[in-house]
Amino acid sequence: MDAPEPTVAAVPASLAARATLVSDAARRASAYLTGLEHRPVAPPADAVAALAAFRRPLQTAPRDARDVLAELDALGSPATMAQARGRYFGFVNGGVDAAAGAASVLAGQWDQNAALPVMSPVAAVLDEVAAAWVVDLLGLPAGATATFTPGATLANLTGILAGRDALLARAGWDASAQGLFGAPPIRVITGEECHVSALKALRLAGLGVDRVERVPTDATGAVIADAFPGDTDHLTLVVLQAGNVNTGASDPFARIIPRVRERGGWVHVDGAFGMWAAVAPGLRDAVAGMELADSWGTDAHKWLNVPYDSGIAIVRERADLERAMSMRAAYLPETGDREAMHLGMQMSQRARGIETWAMLAANGRDGVADLIGRTCAHARDLAALLEAGGAEILAPVALNQVLVAFGAATGGTGDDAVTDAVIGLVQQEGALWAGGTVWKGRHAMRLSVSDQATTRDDVHVSASAILDAWTRVRG
Ligand SMILES: *Cc1c(COP(=O)(O)O)cnc(C)c1O
Repeated sequence: MDAPEPTVAAVPASLAARATLVSDAARRASAYLTGLEHRPVAPPADAVAALAAFRRPLQTAPRDARDVLAELDALGSPATMAQARGRYFGFVNGGVDAAAGAASVLAGQWDQNAALPVMSPVAAVLDEVAAAWVVDLLGLPAGATATFTPGATLANLTGILAGRDALLARAGWDASAQGLFGAPPIRVITGEECHVSALKALRLAGLGVDRVERVPTDATGAVIADAFPGDTDHLTLVVLQAGNVNTGASDPFARIIPRVRERGGWVHVDGAFGMWAAVAPGLRDAVAGMELADSWGTDAHKWLNVPYDSGIAIVRERADLERAMSMRAAYLPETGDREAMHLGMQMSQRARGIETWAMLAANGRDGVADLIGRTCAHARDLAALLEAGGAEILAPVALNQVLVAFGAATGGTGDDAVTDAVIGLVQQEGALWAGGTVWKGRHAMRLSVSDQATTRDDVHVSASAILDAWTRVRG
């Protein structure tokens, strides 16, 4: 007897049909990548306008998944920022390492939940291996525990929560049980130039933004060690920075961290991108002493070129991380294994460690060092070419960030309106993409060389395109 006709058009796809669809997706992704050479970095206005076709009410009937994928490719691909092309210098958005990008395609089909080893043996092993490699590669203390997060904001929050609860525990207060109301007050200190997301993390941790003490910074954006308070105590939480988002400068860790820790305080380092300087022998001095801290927050999706989203929190003492993050309950007995859901904020979670594992497995220590060293060299070259063309470089190039301002005449002082106009024209023309920022009250173009794909040729083409746009802005 025939089965009754389903009342809707689509039935659950067989594995074979799904496999065909995945091949189609992979083919489309390949075509997208090879096409990037020939398109502007920012999507053309007509591609952005065509996105309006997505804005329609959800229809009633199912649709063939092949049609959905075709629509996604036709409307979506042209409206992307060509981030993997080597000429996207916006924010600190990294590109995509080949192995990590391909691993995410495969692991996406695995659909593993990395919360507990019992849910996915492979996710558990790769999470553990990648975490240990990261600790080792960054030169952090051997016993430190790394855990994957959706980004540096949540990595910083993880470290700050571990620190907050550890300080309170040492003072005899159980924050998990008793909460923060009535707890001994924690003094919070950070630099004038700390990242907005670190302030948000402090806010989310219940520590308040207005009560945070801000230490003055020097011309590069680094905390002035002599201005750092000498009277910190066992209830002081300090947030320092590796890699100022504008200049790449790092705080003087070796001069501050030992002083704070000796007095019983906790130091967290926000090193969303800057911490990776430790991997390149020639740049290690830029972040010297960061390993002395209690906790660290960094990103894999920025300078390490792992796909979004992927951050890493690292805490010196595993017990401090677990105190803040564990959610053990009767139905989740202690196993002694490394269990991701007891080391971070999420229960169910993407197996983020897989892509970082693939990146590190493919590049090795030398490959990562080369990526970091090479992008910094490109940043210095970019600054030199722009300066030779008469533009004003606003801060020494410490790592991979370049700050440049443009004036009404070559060799003159940058002018906010001219700089804004150059940024606008460059973005519109699409040979590259760079954003704007404000540095010490002045408007600047900020170029971040964070993509493994960037070549010397890209640097030269980009510098010429910027100088050429400036010439036309001057009229
Ligand atoms: C980018 C950045 C952050 C935030 O990282 P997300 O991954 O975007 O959450 C924090 N601190 C610094 C210094 C950064 O550059």
